[in-house]
Amino acid sequence: MPLPVRPLTVLQNWDCQSCSACCRQYHVSVTPEERARIEAQGWEKHPDLAGVPLFARAGGWLSPAWRLNSRADGACVFLGPDNRCRIHDTFGSAAKPLACRIYPYALVPAGDHWKLGLRFACPSAAEDRGRPLAEHLAEAREYAAALEAGPAAGVAAAAPPPLRKGDAVPWGDVLRIATAVSGLLAGGGSVERRWRKVLYVVGLMRHTTLAGAGGMKAVTGDLLGKMLRGLAETAEAEVPADPAEVPRPGWVGRMVFRPLAALYARKDTGPDRGAAQRSAAGRLLSAVRFARGSGRVPKTHAAIPDATFAAGETPLPGLSDAAVSLLTRWGRVKVESGQFCGPANFGLPVWDGLEALAAAFAAAMWLARVLAAGGRPADEAVTLAVRIVDDNFGFNKLLGRSRQKFALRLLGSKGELPKLVAWYGRTGQGK
Ligand code: SF4
Repeated sequence: MPLPVRPLTVLQNWDCQSCSACCRQYHVSVTPEERARIEAQGWEKHPDLAGVPLFARAGGWLSPAWRLNSRADGACVFLGPDNRCRIHDTFGSAAKPLACRIYPYALVPAGDHWKLGLRFACPSAAEDRGRPLAEHLAEAREYAAALEAGPAAGVAAAAPPPLRKGDAVPWGDVLRIATAVSGLLAGGGSVERRWRKVLYVVGLMRHTTLAGAGGMKAVTGDLLGKMLRGLAETAEAEVPADPAEVPRPGWVGRMVFRPLAALYARKDTGPDRGAAQRSAAGRLLSAVRFARGSGRVPKTHAAIPDATFAAGETPLPGLSDAAVSLLTRWGRVKVESGQFCGPANFGLPVWDGLEALAAAFAAAMWLARVLAAGGRPADEAVTLAVRIVDDNFGFNKLLGRSRQKFALRLLGSKGELPKLVAWYGRTGQGK
């Protein structure tokens, strides 16, 4: 009996709009079983696919792996002229690779159940189009069962992510923390200040031992909930309302943040691949320019306009209610679904995962400024920035390297994260 899938408290809508963006952007890995199943579907008899290789090598010679092949324009070979998947249309959803079926859902283990998250890289998710996510649970249960029968076998016994390395707590406490943080992100005031309140609470909790030591009672269950509510009230009183009261990011903060923002702002496959990503020399030059932080912003993504790094330091005039709603939903869905830590985010412990998400927020706001400098309206720039950053969040393997984890911890330990959030999250009108 598969574990149940539980909905989130945040209202997030989604339905596939058949825009085919996902069929054009990603390289989809297939298991040997999926490859054999698709090969047996007889595509060599299809007039458009006769003689077309259906799969391409995805791994090195030491670890051979396969993915669905792409056409010259980057789209999946199975994408038809009507923007529909030929496998789905001919044999039904279950005949497709599991990765295609699940996208843009993110199923995250949460002890005795799965949480249903969403990838905001999908335009329909970012634009909040369709039915509430809670109405997709039956479909999500099907995918959870398929995961449990394959790649996620034994998920029921998975340990919860620790709060910090070696600091294990029960699943219930991890979920309690996620609920408290989601509450902070749902609160009033500017989105950047909400993130600074989260960072304030994380900063205090990092230095708190929850396990009972020396005869002290362990802080768990309702007691932890009470503590988190108290910290949220303290954060409300202590965190400056005006981002101008927060010092500007220091030299270390800027030096570490720019390469991180470069990773969040890149696309290496599909039609949105950035010109700077096409060769090793281009990538190297791009890294140097991000480290220097002056001149033109390298085109790590096709959407990046001709803009200078100075544009990234200039606030957007203000955020519309729609942009505030998107930034709020994005943060809350990532937190409540558990997409910010553990196996969904390169094994990051809870506190590190929350700091990673705060840094991703700062990167999205930096990118929105750059996109707006190319003439995009602010709302469109924020939406696209969230989509691009979320495409990398938890998926760009470079973000999971120890060097990046160290960089993130450096930003946290030097107190640079609230400064970066205030600096890049502020707008001309303070929203
Ligand atoms: S990107 Fe989203 S809306 Fe577009 S086809 Fe894929 S799942 Fe559907």
